[in-house]
Amino acid sequence: MNSAVLLDATVVTGCRRRVHLEHDPSVADAPRATLDTSTQRRIAEAAAHRRSVADRLAELHRGAWAEISPDLPAEQRRAATLALLSKGVPFVWGGLLPEDPSGGRRGGTELLVRHWGGYLPVLVVRHKVTDLGSGARTSPLTNPLPSAARANPKRKTRPQGRDQMRLAHAVRMLQAAGLAARGRATGGVIGLDADVVVWYDLDAPTWSGGHSAMVEYDTRFADRLAIARAAATGADSLAQPSRVTECRSCPWWLTCGPALRAARDISMVLRGEDTAALRAAGVHTVDALAALNPVVDYPPAPMTGMSFRDAVWLARAWQQDLTLVRRNRRVAVQRADVEVDVDMENFDEAGAYLWGCLLSGADIGMPGGYHAFATWEPVPTLDEARSFAAFWSWLSEVRRRAAERGLSVAAYCYNEQAENRWMLSSAERFAGFPGIPTVAAVQEFISSGSWVDLYQVISTEFLCARGKGLKTVAPAAGFSWHDPEASGENSMRWYADAVGLGGGKPDLAQRTRLLTYNADDVHATHALRLWMSSDRVHEVPYACDLLPCHHG
Ligand code: SF4
Repeated sequence: MNSAVLLDATVVTGCRRRVHLEHDPSVADAPRATLDTSTQRRIAEAAAHRRSVADRLAELHRGAWAEISPDLPAEQRRAATLALLSKGVPFVWGGLLPEDPSGGRRGGTELLVRHWGGYLPVLVVRHKVTDLGSGARTSPLTNPLPSAARANPKRKTRPQGRDQMRLAHAVRMLQAAGLAARGRATGGVIGLDADVVVWYDLDAPTWSGGHSAMVEYDTRFADRLAIARAAATGADSLAQPSRVTECRSCPWWLTCGPALRAARDISMVLRGEDTAALRAAGVHTVDALAALNPVVDYPPAPMTGMSFRDAVWLARAWQQDLTLVRRNRRVAVQRADVEVDVDMENFDEAGAYLWGCLLSGADIGMPGGYHAFATWEPVPTLDEARSFAAFWSWLSEVRRRAAERGLSVAAYCYNEQAENRWMLSSAERFAGFPGIPTVAAVQEFISSGSWVDLYQVISTEFLCARGKGLKTVAPAAGFSWHDPEASGENSMRWYADAVGLGGGKPDLAQRTRLLTYNADDVHATHALRLWMSSDRVHEVPYACDLLPCHHG
């Protein structure tokens, strides 16, 4: 029975309960959610990226290159892979490795490269694998082998644990098939920039605790295999559901969500380590947590994600189905004579195509209201430099005029990480183009007291039992979006249509839709701020006044 369980590399980085559900015959017919559109889009884009990298590599390595069609049945792909590897073909694309029944493994990698009497795995991924810096071991695509790797003077590795786990899985499969290269466990990754292979020494002690990626992988894989085998044989489950970030896009939420709600599981209000710590201390439900007294009780376990007091208050808010509760009796938010709400829209890693701004407050001789600084050439495009420069000079002009008039000014965003990242990277990428600020100028603005992250303000002032997203919080301030389908995920699809990605005709109606959506986002932060400065905010219960409900 054990030999029936074969796991691919995804199990080591995903939810343990999912491994159980996917091997439990008793839930084989349970309904599952279909993939959401953003996941489908990401899958399609990753496939297109892989294809374009494969085309370039095939061109560079003609005569040494072989491809296995993804359309073949798995059994034929495995046989074709084995035949090519046995012949010693230098580069094999799309290979599926022989199944490893005793190890419980199945899978393959985008590329297998011949090296030192065997093969090494190389992944092709659509995320960044390096950052500016130095020291990453990289080799050029013209010679994608570790023997050609050198310390890169311009890149440092961005250590992607998920990639390392996938590589370790492939190394173990190659070893099981007697096809692994001699020497240390090694694997390569070609990332979003697709200009070099970044090499990982998987035996190096780079993981926390001083162990290697291979040791980490082996430990995790043994755990997942035990879970799957227990599920497949009807033994006691080794993995219980717990709400994690992955749940949002997991097809099993239709099963886990109702079960967790019905059990009033503590993970409905807490995350990660705190959930585990409280469970270990015997606090399993929201009600048990809500019943504790944060003034006189000691925390049942040390907490890292939030204070014990906040955790109890959040549990009480959840019991009463409250979206928000006040953490402080008085709510404070920074205001200024001249205010600008800023919201940036980007298309994945390809570029920031729209900077939307709402100008309000004292008259500074500039038109108030919504202003959009956009490029409608598909990103990546140098036209992005023009639109970013236009945004920056407009914002600088607002600041200059306010200062000239002795007026205070504040610019607001919701969760500054994205805006900060794209402002800094735009200054860096487009350095020297007309109107582009220096990185130092952007840094000065970001660290000035006039750049305010309302997400942080919300986190300071409220506990949010249903999440802190703007779409969840702004309705509490009475705000609603024009477009009922407005969401970051949908905006990606609208953008693809708006600029005619994939060769289609640009859809102008979708541009209007994106501008409306962006304008609504900046109006939402504006509305949130006005509401926080008004008496209406006191309609939100003060957490300290909440009493525990006695459930059931
Ligand atoms: S819904 Fe969440 S808990 Fe359930 S299997 Fe998926 S990720 Fe795991």
